[in-house]
Amino acid sequence: VLDWLVIGGGIHGTCISRFLTAANIADGETLRVLDPHPEPLRLWNRFGTACGMAYLRSPSVHHLDVDPYALDRFAESSWPEGAEPPFRPPKDRPAFSLFRAHCDRVIRERGLESLRIRGRALALRNGGNHIVAETDAGDFRARNAVLATGSGERPRWPRWARQLREAGAPISHVFDPDFSRERFSEPKPIAVVGGGMTGAQLAAALVAENRGPVTLIADHPLKTSPFDFDPCWLGPKCFGRRPGESADGWEARVRAARRDGTVTPDVADRLRTDLREGRLAIMDGQVRSGEFRNSETRLTGGFSPLGEVGASSGRKIERFVAEGPIILATGFDSRVIGGRFLETAMAEFDLKTTPEGRPRLNRDIRWGPGIWTTGVLAETALGPQARNIVGARHAARAIVATAESE
Ligand SMILES: Cc1cc2nc3c(=O)[nH]c(=O)nc-3n(C[C@H](O)[C@H](O)[C@H](O)COP(=O)(O)OP(=O)(O)OC[C@H]3O[C@@H](n4cnc5c(N)ncnc54)[C@H](O)[C@@H]3O)c2cc1C
Repeated sequence: VLDWLVIGGGIHGTCISRFLTAANIADGETLRVLDPHPEPLRLWNRFGTACGMAYLRSPSVHHLDVDPYALDRFAESSWPEGAEPPFRPPKDRPAFSLFRAHCDRVIRERGLESLRIRGRALALRNGGNHIVAETDAGDFRARNAVLATGSGERPRWPRWARQLREAGAPISHVFDPDFSRERFSEPKPIAVVGGGMTGAQLAAALVAENRGPVTLIADHPLKTSPFDFDPCWLGPKCFGRRPGESADGWEARVRAARRDGTVTPDVADRLRTDLREGRLAIMDGQVRSGEFRNSETRLTGGFSPLGEVGASSGRKIERFVAEGPIILATGFDSRVIGGRFLETAMAEFDLKTTPEGRPRLNRDIRWGPGIWTTGVLAETALGPQARNIVGARHAARAIVATAESE
């Protein structure tokens, strides 16, 4: 029987395995990380590459290793002179390539790869004094299971987009397993749907690579914010229940502190330049339906062409005709709990949810006896930063602190 089985080997699962081994709570005998991919962080690396992410949004102190300054030191000692700047303001946001190189180093030097089992958890069963994870690589028994399954396997396909795909329209999602910008080698007009950070970076990358005239369709006139949650939550001023605050009130405050769908100021500047120089068009509007006929896709919804990032032109057109491929950058399924695996775990252990469909957690990030959460699953305990890299660090620290004290 293992002490710890971490289910999911993305940023969260890998970070937790690093913290548990660094604190000597677990080692190569007592801990395993279960993940279906051939190497750690497969989805993270794929998504960042697919959308052309040049720099992270989070600061240099948010990464996989325990010492917050490990990435700064790695950049000083290992980043080649003359390479792209390792960090960009504000708060020293690392280059994606630097962050990846640092992850690779931590995984290699700390032996995290050898903790991995390749497989997918299908169900969790109650074995009395331990948990049984039924997986496609056999059964595993553990006293503790950490649910680090993320949302990465569930890209969001709006209904109109699914209908277009069924009708044979050239539509894909930037988070599809086989997505690559290289696929768009003929210079044809490209429409990107989604006005958040992923869509904005993708549109800018397609423009920079001259892949064709690009139109970005955003359901708001592009909102700017350095981070995707209110950073006040990283400190005690915002974090923590207020005196007399109900569970519902706290959850509402957590939700309101997310800044999803916003774009960093540097990426907004790039779009601004591309727009001014006529290499990019931006339509403010929400697609309601689509029709694919004679190799054209008509998107209906009411769109207002932007004359300037952040400001609507006031003009309105009902229909947008896409003459080439459409790429969705519509994020992930917004349901916090998705997929059969979590559903079976909930039924077996009688795990409760809030009216909003989030795990109803115990006093910490435990959902049931020995069942720990991280990422979006832990949002009601860890706040709006739960799904970010810093959320993985907070979850890992919480697990270590409890394991040391119990
Ligand atoms: C393009 C992009 C850029 C981002 N940039 C930043 C940033 O700059 N800073 C920041 O803080 N955050 C950022 N984020 C947000 C967040 O940090 C990432 O989404 C992060 O990858 C989430 O990690 P995760 O481990 O929770 O999920 P995932 O990356 O989805 O990993 C979960 C893993 O669990 C596996 N899994 C799922 N189900 C099972 C199962 N049943 N059994 C076994 N394994 C399973 C999956 O296959 C996957 O490998 C970004 C997100 C995206 C999409």
